[in-house]
Amino acid sequence: MGPVMTGVALMRNYIGGKWVEAEASGSIGITNPGTGDVIGEVPLSTREETNRAIAAAAEAYKTWGMTPVARRVQPLYKLAQTLRADEDRIARILVAENGKSLTDARAEMKRVFENIEVACGMPVLQQGDKLIGASFDMDGEVVRLPMGVFGMIAPFNFPAMVPFWFLPYAIATGNTFVLKTSKQVPMTMQAITQHIEDAGVPPGVFNVVNGDSVVADAIMDSPIVQGVSFVGSTPVARIVADKCAKTNKRFQAMGGAKNHLVVMPDAKMEGVIRNMTTSCYGCAGQRCMASSAIVAVGDATYDEVCERFVEDSKKTLLANPLDPRHEEEPMLLGPVISKRAKDTILGLIEDGINEGATLALDGRGVTVEGSEGGFYIGPTVFTDVKPGMKIHRTEIFAPVVCILKADTLDEAIQIVNDHEYGNGASIYTQNGYYARKFKLEALAGMIGVNVGIPAPVAYLPFGGMKASQWADIKTQGKAIVNFYTQDKIVTERYFGEGG
Ligand code: NAD
Repeated sequence: MGPVMTGVALMRNYIGGKWVEAEASGSIGITNPGTGDVIGEVPLSTREETNRAIAAAAEAYKTWGMTPVARRVQPLYKLAQTLRADEDRIARILVAENGKSLTDARAEMKRVFENIEVACGMPVLQQGDKLIGASFDMDGEVVRLPMGVFGMIAPFNFPAMVPFWFLPYAIATGNTFVLKTSKQVPMTMQAITQHIEDAGVPPGVFNVVNGDSVVADAIMDSPIVQGVSFVGSTPVARIVADKCAKTNKRFQAMGGAKNHLVVMPDAKMEGVIRNMTTSCYGCAGQRCMASSAIVAVGDATYDEVCERFVEDSKKTLLANPLDPRHEEEPMLLGPVISKRAKDTILGLIEDGINEGATLALDGRGVTVEGSEGGFYIGPTVFTDVKPGMKIHRTEIFAPVVCILKADTLDEAIQIVNDHEYGNGASIYTQNGYYARKFKLEALAGMIGVNVGIPAPVAYLPFGGMKASQWADIKTQGKAIVNFYTQDKIVTERYFGEGG
């Protein structure tokens, strides 16, 4: 199938070490959310095309799985270097298709490098155990072996970082990999894949197939694929968990979020307010670790938080992230990902008004001069929000914040724990007792103490609880090595001379 649009680049698939024009059932435009302009075209690849990528990965595994681990990490060292040298160009591609600020895109690239660097430690991370003297003349050994082909289904909000939560670890452990990009943001991985090829990753070890759920289904249905990592919304995470369990595949299914920030009366309010606005409005509230619910403890704290948070929200710079005047702004509120997302968000704001919350700051109806076609929503704050209201229950994934009141820390923790999601949760306090209680009792996978975006560095595991993560297999760091390896336990004995 040839390109159907003129003047924009058609994304290609990368299969078996070759860039190929996709066999596709159609294609769709890739939109710059900051302007509304179509900047590329993505093919909707077929099941057959995906199966070809899986077959190429299976073929490559025969050699790659037997390649010494110290050799397998060599291309990753090179990749880290060449990606760093090309960081600015890639970050700008990322901004153009995703709409986050350049500062956020650069921060995302830093996490990419960090994950590659951690995976370079695989000669140590993949080591097993040995017990000398399991019995008389007998030793026991645990060996951690790769398994074959792994798949990954990616979301739109971190076009570079989220695939790198998995791919460097998968290939360093000796597996081969098929990535399905998000059809909304396939351009960043297109640029990065060229570096992966140039770094000397052998043909078939890493493959990219662009498209929609047809590609995802082909990966999940394939009897060749050993495991699937999914990152995206909770309804799809449910589908992935269900399908993979039925076909006896390993899976990671990381879902949606509604991250709470609890403000105690003793919190250092000056720094806290800024920290909260950054958490709520960075990446237009489309980080899986963004906060969208603030719980203030006590009447006085609630009143102060409502007033100061709304005031500070008004100071947020709403702009096209690629406007040269604002490119270097550390905190810029850009567009949401699409017109469709914007319409859904506007509907939810309407719901909030109808269910009785107070719209203390209305971000509807904004325009950004010179970028009128972009999908912008200004900072939006609801106060008088009660637990269980639709705007509190739902992951709005936007710069829309709910402020709730609790009388005590116990009540605040209850609000966090009763929520369906449990990705991240933070407390603002200077009191060690409150902090410790929150750390131990709050049901969220990643906890912050005076940190509004408690996203762990790549040396530590990343993952949530409850509906934010199916199966407690976290990503990054040492945790992911377990996902990509299968233990064999060997009991061994040799008979002595004459015996
Ligand atoms: P999404 O669920 O719409 O899509 C994610 C991926 O799944 C895409 O590649 C998409 O093509 C594919 N997909 C969609 N429907 C499918 C189906 N029925 N069957 C198989 N595959 C299907 O998510 P999104 O809008 O791209 O990303 C935003 C979501 O991701 C938010 O909910 C956010 O919280 C979540 N997220 C979570 C984490 C985390 O660590 N928990 C990290 C990043 C993003």
